[in-house]
Amino acid sequence: MVVPPTPENLERAAQIIRSGGLVAFPTETVYGLGANALDATAVAKIFAAKQRPSFDPLIVHVSDRQMLQQVVREVPEVAEKLMSRFWPGPLTLVLPKSEQVPGIVTAGLPTVAVRMPAHPVAQALIRRALVPVAAPSANPFGYLSPTRAEHVERMLGERVDLILDGGSTEFGVESTIVLLAEKPVLLRYGAVTLEELETVLGSLELQVGPSENPLVPGQLPQHYAPRTPIRIAPPEAIPPGLRKRAGYLAFQQVPKGFKVVKVLSPTGNLLEAAAHLFEALHQLDRLGLEVIYAEPVPEEGLGRAIMDRLRRAASADAPRVLDHLTTPAEQ
Ligand code: AMP
Ligand code: MG
Repeated sequence: MVVPPTPENLERAAQIIRSGGLVAFPTETVYGLGANALDATAVAKIFAAKQRPSFDPLIVHVSDRQMLQQVVREVPEVAEKLMSRFWPGPLTLVLPKSEQVPGIVTAGLPTVAVRMPAHPVAQALIRRALVPVAAPSANPFGYLSPTRAEHVERMLGERVDLILDGGSTEFGVESTIVLLAEKPVLLRYGAVTLEELETVLGSLELQVGPSENPLVPGQLPQHYAPRTPIRIAPPEAIPPGLRKRAGYLAFQQVPKGFKVVKVLSPTGNLLEAAAHLFEALHQLDRLGLEVIYAEPVPEEGLGRAIMDRLRRAASADAPRVLDHLTTPAEQ
């Protein structure tokens, strides 16, 4: 059931979390599917609802520093620096976990991924729940992430006890993940850009995949995918004959001849493009198209997160890729 985030509904949602149920809620990145992070049985419901493999660890969401202390064993100085710059916000830190966090949350790892969301509904829910909230994106595993309450309802519907509607999410791509081991390692491009991180950390190591042999579980090469096959190609690489039954996910300009075109940002703004990415893909995926082509965006700032999601979405249908793409020279 989708409800507005009134104080009464937030209280009801917090009560559901406390009693071991599932609540979908908006964050500034995408919609999350939340359960009490300290209750292994509740967390198991997340994996069941999403059909998520148990080797893929979850991110724990906290509303304050006290809750952070509950889930991590220590907070190194570099974490302090990152938190004071980016929290609350879309940066996830991987830190040594406390004993209170059940192994199901971290897929048995000795570390836990944690963040403090900035969205007022997410914050209010966690604060009222009085427990840290484990929450992956509120979608079936591997499918497009939800950026609106109706995406959650369509994809997970009755598997969720309550869906809080906070409108469209601000960033539209997931949080950035940084592992704080001996030195910081970027594990996932996301809503906080590499350039922003570098202003605090200087340089950092990159292990952003996609990789068949990920350093940590969950960095799968195939993810974020629509059901319709998706391929990354600039418009000039797609012969006119193939355009009629295809959709095009354009960055700025509308190319000719496609059955349907969605433009991510007419002004070429990567922030706007990221915010529209999943919504545009959800829309295109409902049209029964033969294929969705996606235009590459510049790989800077949020463009890195956008390209990361597009590549994983495209590799999800790798076996189905038809070799009918030709370069302009071959046409
Ligand atoms: P999401 O599915 O968006 O909630 O993101 C969860 C992702 O965070 C996982 O797929 C992992 O890539 C990463 N992650 C979670 N916990 C850990 C951990 N303890 N160590 C490293 N990466 C983690
Ligand atoms: Mg996800």
